[in-house]
Amino acid sequence: MIVKPEPAVQETNNIYDVYRIREDFPILKTKVRNKPLVYFDNAATTQKPQQVIDTLSKYYNSMNANIHRGVHYLSNIATDAYEDARIKVKNFINAASEKEIIFTKGTTESINLVANSFGKSNLKEGDEIIISNMEHHSNIVPWQLICNEKKAKLKIIPIDDNGEIIFDEFVKLISDKTKLISIVYISNSLGTINPVKDIIEIAHKYDIPVLLDAAQTVNHKTVDVQKLDCDFLAFSGHKLYGPTGIGVLYGKEKFLEAMPPFMGGGDMIAKVTFEETTYNELPYKFEAGTSNIADAIGLGSAIDYITSIGMEKIFVHEASLLEYATQKLEEVPGLKIIGTAKQKSAVISFVFDNIHPHDVGTFLDFEGVAVRTGHHCTQPVMQRYNIPATSRASFGLYNTTEEIDTLADSLKRIVEVF
Ligand code: PMP
Repeated sequence: MIVKPEPAVQETNNIYDVYRIREDFPILKTKVRNKPLVYFDNAATTQKPQQVIDTLSKYYNSMNANIHRGVHYLSNIATDAYEDARIKVKNFINAASEKEIIFTKGTTESINLVANSFGKSNLKEGDEIIISNMEHHSNIVPWQLICNEKKAKLKIIPIDDNGEIIFDEFVKLISDKTKLISIVYISNSLGTINPVKDIIEIAHKYDIPVLLDAAQTVNHKTVDVQKLDCDFLAFSGHKLYGPTGIGVLYGKEKFLEAMPPFMGGGDMIAKVTFEETTYNELPYKFEAGTSNIADAIGLGSAIDYITSIGMEKIFVHEASLLEYATQKLEEVPGLKIIGTAKQKSAVISFVFDNIHPHDVGTFLDFEGVAVRTGHHCTQPVMQRYNIPATSRASFGLYNTTEEIDTLADSLKRIVEVF
């Protein structure tokens, strides 16, 4: 049972009743060695509200059937629920049409889809793809693979010591060889919120499409794909308080229409003969085989949950957590924050000169505090700062200032011990 803090502490946290919201997440009642769990590993995955857990169990209890192909009762209700989830995603990111919403396994698969489909049909020898120095490996490796195959080149936007992209250098990288810019919206290891609107505006002046890796964005701030005018956007359900194994690729219809299928199989076809296959219409052209029906419906339920709280409120709550945590962690002797961009999301990576991040993580676990330690699948970021790893505390809609106090106090004890 989490005790409400004194009013002075609560003041930073009065956007909504966070203690009421915590009741929606059964796992937050977990005790770790008799201490209340403090879950600060939200950038790796978020916890699930009861509503999402109930949706999954309801699906398997009363709706389970394969979709699209059946004429029977269960198949029809499962199909309706799956397509309803697609409409929820469409509305959540304000896409123009549900044809532009493709269900995938997650951000990684979404980016691989674009690399393999758009990349395969648009890249030739000497062409270039632009990414940044702060990409997750899932926005590096798929491009390396396709660039190797096509003899194309990967160009990297450098970042400064604060963890912000150097905009002038980005502009210099654009050329008539640039075929796509693929960039992370919010960095999972630095917390930087990139100026993606400006990037898109410049890219479009040269007719270059832009893919946004929004894995760490859709759970923290409102994303409107039409306002942003991005051409592709990828995200994962499990970072959005939804299930694992489900994600989304948004793509503008004109691009998706022109792109060849990524995978072949059932559901993505219109007609198959041994001589020739014609493909299904969007979005099914990109959803070969039996989809992750239950988890897509679960993602729809997570979107309902978040929407009922309000994305703007979540943003303000997390911004207050970030401010409070930054101030508290700066008071810990010897602690250095990696990633100090002016526009930052609720992620704090930090290091100590003389304590290895894995020791920090292990010590914190004894205190019931879950943080992630390592390179966070962003090894080039670690290389940029010349560090092997960081400890990372990442906040979600249910975290409290009281939990941040526990983290800061535990870190002070670690410093004393070492
Ligand atoms: N991009 C970013 C910025 C991420 O944080 C992650 C997950 N850590 C991914 C991509 C990959 O997401 P997934 O593993 O769900 O495919």
